[in-house]
Formats: sequence, C-alpha cells, structure tokens
Amino acid sequence: MTALTKPLRRLLVATLTLVAALAVIVLPQSPASAWARIPGGCESPTTAVKWSDQTGGGNYGSPAHAAIASWEATSTPLSFQLVGDGTHHLAVNKTNFGADDEYAGIIYTSVGTRLPTCSGTGAPWPVKITAFLNTAYTDGYPAQGKQSVYAHEIGHFLGLGHTGVGPCVSYPLMLSGYATRYGSCGIYAPRSDDINGINGIY
Ligand SMILES: [Zn+2]
Repeated sequence: MTALTKPLRRLLVATLTLVAALAVIVLPQSPASAWARIPGGCESPTTAVKWSDQTGGGNYGSPAHAAIASWEATSTPLSFQLVGDGTHHLAVNKTNFGADDEYAGIIYTSVGTRLPTCSGTGAPWPVKITAFLNTAYTDGYPAQGKQSVYAHEIGHFLGLGHTGVGPCVSYPLMLSGYATRYGSCGIYAPRSDDINGINGIY
C-alpha cells in the first residue's frame, strides 16, 4: 500500500467520519412507530372501559373474553370492567352480515348502522360502540381466529386504524385482513406497535 501524504490521510479520515455520521442519520429506524389513528380520530371516552358481552356465549363468548383480556394485559392505562346493566362503552357481539360483506369483523353503533363522526382527532365516540364478528366468515374460524378478529375490532374502538409493516414478526394486530394477520402470521393479541399506539393516544 502506498503511503498517503499527511494532508491526504486527514482528508480520508474526515471523509470516513462524515460518512459514518450520515449513516447513523440515514439508516432506517425500527418500523415499530407505524401505528395510526382510526380515520376520523375518535377514541374511547375512557381508559376504564366498561364492556358488555352480547355474544350469547357458545363459540363466541370465550374468544371475546380472551380478546378483552389480551388488551387488559398490555402495559397501557387500559382496564376493562364487564357490566350487564347498559352502562357499557363497548359491546361485543356477532351477526350474520352475509358473505358479500367483505369484513370478518366490524365496529358499528348497532347492526348496519354506520359509525358516528366525532368532533375531531382525540374526541370520544359520542355513542356506544359494538364490535361485531360476521358469522358468515367467522363460524369457520378457530377460537383463536375469532379472538384475533375481536381483538382487532376492539383496537378500532380504542382509536387505532390499520397499519401493516411486515413481515410476520413485526406485523401489528391492527393489520387489515385476517388471511395474513391470523391465517399466515398467527397474530391474535396486541403487539408492540399496537401497544405503542395506545400509549400514544392515551
Ligand atoms: Zn380493521
């Protein structure tokens, strides 16, 4: 190797230092900050969520309870109380919306009733919200698959929108589409991006 002159060595060192500094700035950060608010910006009126089980039990009761428990287990301000007196903020239910409805799960105010608009980002839902499973699809899902859809819909009630930065190891619960979320990736509970979202909202 040819010896470099002293000024040339200094220039080389300075250049390498600059390149290293730029690399630190330019290299992509972790995609864990991908969470988004639901379009319209509504959120739960409280982190102490009162919920009502309207599934009628059977094959749907356990997945609904497991979905609530999975959110309750997160390191967030959320807590959930099961109530039966109509004072709930969130209900979980199931209805046959038909196979021509593309959704395996959806949140509504009641069957077929469109979501209300709230007064802006960070405003509470103005009415009670129900997370439905569409039994036309979900009757064929395993219990953990039903849980995946319930937990996803509850995420919408809490104010989260769809995100989808993969692969499986980093996909959030709020990934739209059951086939990839549960079918391919086996996701049925909140993951780090979803938890970051809740801690960002509340
Ligand atoms: Zn969704």
